[in-house]
Amino acid sequence: MNFHVVTLFPDSFASYLNESIIARAIREKKISVKFYNPRDFAPVGKRSFLRGKLPKGKNGKKFIPYIRVDDKPYGGGPGMVMEAEPILKAVAKAKGSKKKVKIILFSPSGEKFTTKKARDLAHMSGDVILICGRYEGIDARVQKILKAEEISIGDYVLTGGELPAMVLIDSVSRQIPGVLGNFNSLEESRVSSSEVYTRPEVLTHKGKKYKVPKVLLSGHHQKIDEWKARK
Ligand code: SAH
Repeated sequence: MNFHVVTLFPDSFASYLNESIIARAIREKKISVKFYNPRDFAPVGKRSFLRGKLPKGKNGKKFIPYIRVDDKPYGGGPGMVMEAEPILKAVAKAKGSKKKVKIILFSPSGEKFTTKKARDLAHMSGDVILICGRYEGIDARVQKILKAEEISIGDYVLTGGELPAMVLIDSVSRQIPGVLGNFNSLEESRVSSSEVYTRPEVLTHKGKKYKVPKVLLSGHHQKIDEWKARK
């Protein structure tokens, strides 16, 4: 599965993708994650410098060029809207000559993301382009032109689509055979539970004893699975 992420902030992904199971999945080439920054596709005419006080570059002398990829919303209203063109170009780059590519655009009013969706995507296995919005969102024509599927990760508004992209990558990846390790490779085939315990058998906290449910210590696999399914 190859994830192609269109984002203004690719650096925000590094710490999460470089840890634990997802890092291993990338190392073992079960998944790949590539980034496309709309800023790199902004037309030269649109490139401008930060107005007002310019920040200093790394060497303390140079100015950091600021390439504008957003503009005021038509019809008025607060905030800025991401322009369509740099995003469409970034998507075209991600698409390359690939024929079958799924395009997802994150939006708080999109269809709710679920484990079922994650499973369907994992089974599709191929190339998925994830478009992350920022500010007040993306010019609506991007969705119309690309016929992108709009996905929301929950009924709350975030400042950007980067966390939703990481949520989707994480959730889809753990559905890919082998990502969770050999033993538990197929998520569908294991009975998992939201209530889990590990050692010690009896945990003492502030004078009180907290025990692991007896059934889990019974060794009776059928009963254990029944218990897990209820939880
Ligand atoms: N003005 C917009 C909100 C923009 S939030 C509105 O009212 O709908 C900025 C960006 O963050 C969005 O374009 C989207 O890509 C992302 N985002 C915010 N919350 C999200 C959520 N719950 N699910 C998916 N993406 C979200």
